[in-house]
Amino acid sequence: MSDTVHNYIGGVWTPSSGKDAIGITNSATGEEIGRTPLSTRADVDAAVKAARKAFPAWRETPAVERVRVLMRLKMRLEEHKEELARSLSREHGKILAETRGEVQRGIENVEHACGMPTLMMGDTAEDIAPGIDCASYRQPLGVFGIITPYNFPVMIPLWFWPYAVAAGNTVVLKPSEQDPLTHQKIVDLADRVGLPAGVLNVVHGGQEAVEAVCDHPDIVGVSFVGSSHVAKVVYQRAATAGKRVQALGGAKNHLIVMPDADMDYTADACMASVFGSTGQRCLAGSILVGVGEAYKPLRERILDGASSLRMGDGLDPDTDMGPVISSTHRDRVKTFIDEAAGSGGRLALDGRYDVVDTMPGGHWIGPTVFDEVRMDTPLGTEEVFGPVAGLSRVKTLDDAIEQMHTTRYGNACSIFTTSGKAAREFRYKAGISMIGVNIGVAAPMAFFPFGGSRASFYGDLKAQGRDAISFFTDQRVVISRW
Ligand code: NAD
Repeated sequence: MSDTVHNYIGGVWTPSSGKDAIGITNSATGEEIGRTPLSTRADVDAAVKAARKAFPAWRETPAVERVRVLMRLKMRLEEHKEELARSLSREHGKILAETRGEVQRGIENVEHACGMPTLMMGDTAEDIAPGIDCASYRQPLGVFGIITPYNFPVMIPLWFWPYAVAAGNTVVLKPSEQDPLTHQKIVDLADRVGLPAGVLNVVHGGQEAVEAVCDHPDIVGVSFVGSSHVAKVVYQRAATAGKRVQALGGAKNHLIVMPDADMDYTADACMASVFGSTGQRCLAGSILVGVGEAYKPLRERILDGASSLRMGDGLDPDTDMGPVISSTHRDRVKTFIDEAAGSGGRLALDGRYDVVDTMPGGHWIGPTVFDEVRMDTPLGTEEVFGPVAGLSRVKTLDDAIEQMHTTRYGNACSIFTTSGKAAREFRYKAGISMIGVNIGVAAPMAFFPFGGSRASFYGDLKAQGRDAISFFTDQRVVISRW
């Protein structure tokens, strides 16, 4: 297998029929390390046909046997953990500590899906009327489409496909075209541990492949993660075609710091939240809100910490922050900062011109901090997806919550405090799905549901946890009298 990705259809690595391809780069050097073909509707159709063909036998394979394949995959993932983390740092740019964490979180989903024989049990009740019993069975539905973003290219596909296949479905995965190399290694491992042909299929590409997945009459459901704009389009298009859909979108996360918070701990957690993965996380802190007296010490610590971050190659153990995914994305983040600064935003730390001299081709953008961000500007309301913090000052916790609700997103938020009362009030009123209390990144855990609210999520059943079981199965209820 070369570093140019091929589709994986019916258990065979298959060249795409698409004529166009885009380059995959090492984000730290800018060097091209592979190419992603832009697959066509015909490629998606071939993958769906393979998945349909594999479904009846896979569905009839007992769940205990299905998960044995995943158990073997889990062992292989553990063996290859470091290799996967290094490959991920190279194509994505994030530092090794982050990619090791991502691979680990991905493996935890495979582990959780291995509980499928129990997780997909139904319910029973005797004598719901004299002599009549009732039972529910969870059954797989057929072929699922899974469409994933660039920022967690190992973990996010694993939020979905292990559950889908453990439950007896078959899958067509469309990974991000920007960094598909590491997940390709995982698919290769799945192939080697005996996942039957056609159970998992992969089609690479962009918009055309996504639209083909949304429209295909033989796909029964779609899991999507990406920006809110595309999440909404995919949600509407796939739902119109009669599918069940879960579509996770973008974010604008507020981290609220109370005056009673442990300021050193809090500043470290906020730093990791904003600048970790170079800000390219849907859980990244974006607006740092100092309540009352908290503003000044928070501001000092963030400016100190941000200006001392070492930017560099994610593979270098001395690096604190890697590059962003592409030169296009770097330019987008820069433009965002330019416009915010040009329209009255107060730049306290400007990372626009930061570069790593030894790696001039990398996609660099340094830590950036804005002071006293206004919530009626794009910097206050829109997702930047880069290493940019906006500081904000309010008088009370209620003001902080009210301000947080001015954004249309609802992915994550956090409070830092030593007051149980403030933490409880925040949790009660936040109205946002993932809530951190003295935690800067309200992280996805395999055994809990994950997904946002408002414009951060379209659908009802979320990723992971029990929601994943419900999404990938239908409950058939049998009522009997003998
Ligand atoms: P993206 O929306 O650009 O791409 C996501 C997927 O959609 C990719 O597979 C891409 O090929 C496809 N796509 C892109 N444009 C399309 C179009 N016009 N029509 C059809 N398909 C299209 O997102 P991204 O840049 O890869 O990832 C970053 C975004 O994902 C951020 O907004 C981030 O907040 C979000 N995200 C959300 C979560 C979450 O759990 N809510 C997790 C990770 C990332």
